Amino acid sequence: MSIKEQIEGLQILNVLDAEILKLKAAEKKFPEALAAFDDRLQSIKTKTDVVRLQVEELECRSKSLEESIAGERSQIKQWEGRLVEQSTPEGYIALAREIDIAKKTVATSEENLSAIASELTVARQKYAAAQEQMTRESEEIAAQKAAKRKEIKKHEELMSAKTAERTAARTKVDASLLARYEEACRHAGNGLAAVGKAGTCRGCNMRIRPQLLNILRASVIGECPSCHRLIYAEELLQPPVKAVDPEVKPAEEAATKAKGASKGRKTKAAKKKDETGDTEE
Ligand SMILES: [Zn+2]
Repeated sequence: MSIKEQIEGLQILNVLDAEILKLKAAEKKFPEALAAFDDRLQSIKTKTDVVRLQVEELECRSKSLEESIAGERSQIKQWEGRLVEQSTPEGYIALAREIDIAKKTVATSEENLSAIASELTVARQKYAAAQEQMTRESEEIAAQKAAKRKEIKKHEELMSAKTAERTAARTKVDASLLARYEEACRHAGNGLAAVGKAGTCRGCNMRIRPQLLNILRASVIGECPSCHRLIYAEELLQPPVKAVDPEVKPAEEAATKAKGASKGRKTKAAKKKDETGDTEE
């Protein structure tokens, strides 16, 4: 395999790895998103439950008041029956007073009952509205959840396609280079970077020392001393101008350039030009 093919193989792998990393990051958010739907549903149910409990409590109070009123009334009826049986005026007065008290109690209870009835009407309306809202929102949430599940399924399909592509792409790179690349990925997340004409690593923007730069230009895949990514000279990928043998030519060119560079013949102006060129790349 030529150096160009190796670099191109690594580039494909690097793009796939970046895509897979992005997919994995998105994947991490899925459980949270699904749980958020359940939380929203639960919060609506809780709100509805609160209103339902209010209705039940008012119904309970109303029922108990009705029973107590019925009890008092039956007592009053009984006492009224016994009024005529009273043989002494004291007995009559005492019983009449009990009846009076009981009647006042009934009147107060009836007032309370009427207040509870008004409250109950309002609470029942609120409960009906809450139930309606719950039904509507539950449907909305169910639809959104289904859409999310669909998105997750699509995502999983994409992930398995990318993983398969990656498996295929691995076979296009030499095993030892692949091992170095994967080690670099463990360090930097993204294991490959080009070095531009100005000699700067595109992964970390650090300038590569001339000695290493010369080695790279002589068709070698190196390692960035700063970010530990695998690095290659970008010009190796450019088609040679008058190439007879594309595998030899770039190496020869690099070697010639290396000679020039090692003698330090570059003028300040030339270096400046290089730097400017770097930012334009
Ligand atoms: Zn670097």
